[in-house]
Amino acid sequence: MVSVKRTAARMLFGSRYNKVPWGQRVYVRPGERLMREAQWRLKLRSARVMSLEEYKATVPLGEIEEFLSCMMCGDSRQQPLFEPTGGRNWRYHVVRCPSCGFLYRNPNIRPERLGDLYANSYSSFLTGKYAANRQRRYQLTMDAFAPVFEHGEGRRLLDFGCGAGLFLELAEQRGFDAVGVDLSPDSVEQANARLTKARAYFGAPEDVPEIAAGGFDVITLWSVLAHLPRPLEDFERFRHLLAPGGVLLILTVNAGSLLLKAYESGWSGFTKNHLMFYSSATLPTLLGRTGFGGVAYAPHYGDTIEAGTSQLPGPLRARLRRAVENSDGGNMMRALAFADDEAISRWGQRLRVRRL
Ligand SMILES: [Zn+2]
Repeated sequence: MVSVKRTAARMLFGSRYNKVPWGQRVYVRPGERLMREAQWRLKLRSARVMSLEEYKATVPLGEIEEFLSCMMCGDSRQQPLFEPTGGRNWRYHVVRCPSCGFLYRNPNIRPERLGDLYANSYSSFLTGKYAANRQRRYQLTMDAFAPVFEHGEGRRLLDFGCGAGLFLELAEQRGFDAVGVDLSPDSVEQANARLTKARAYFGAPEDVPEIAAGGFDVITLWSVLAHLPRPLEDFERFRHLLAPGGVLLILTVNAGSLLLKAYESGWSGFTKNHLMFYSSATLPTLLGRTGFGGVAYAPHYGDTIEAGTSQLPGPLRARLRRAVENSDGGNMMRALAFADDEAISRWGQRLRVRRL
């Protein structure tokens, strides 16, 4: 199948785009966006929709797993679409909700067994060679939502899922009174070794009095949303922890990505520990149901494009930007959620805010 696709692509496009990195090709080859979108619609029309009972009979249930209905709208019907796999190490099933389009792993991980996924060796991944790239990504995203992150003086920030503190380090440099929480004890230890003023804590927000007191001006979720097994409960808590005029920043893989439409089960967003996959079509449901007042997005063109280090020729860069915007199909989704009207009037001036 892969070689058939490759041959077809060679016939259509020749070798002109061979030097374009694979993650950018689908955005720059002429006509490919429309073709992938048509392919996607066809897939949705032809994929079977079944009741949860029917579905349960077709998929094995692991010891730490549970079957779910759609967390966004409650529909229990299942449209099986993908089976991502990491070789022999892991494999899971991704379904789509036929009512609201939400994509989620089903069966999912039971929340009380989530620690099994994060017990060891996660912090080395977070601080290894990816550290510089990650900090660049944080900077680019903060810039995309300027001026929210420009001056942190006198403002409280909570980084939920702070890992080894790479973002907290930037937050304290920008003057924020910053704290973080994480479920990995060795990450928290590394974070506190790195930080001067900011502090990281192990556990849940309600376990740490300083955090449970709330009153945060900013909460950040860097690559955390896709890992949450009970997003409604978590977002109710985040809304509660925000001060009037507060904002919540989200960076997560985009379930509307053109790369997902192109690579299907092989999409880079289907990683071992991801549980749920949001797009600008489904995130507003989560935010609206948990009391947020509005949301704005910053399209994601890819870190090298935004940092100005991409080798892509100018006309192709322009084409990539258009394809991302016209399809809402960047590979990551960046969203800023507003707690209330005060937050919208204070921080939403230069953004296109969708009220909830
Ligand atoms: Zn749904």
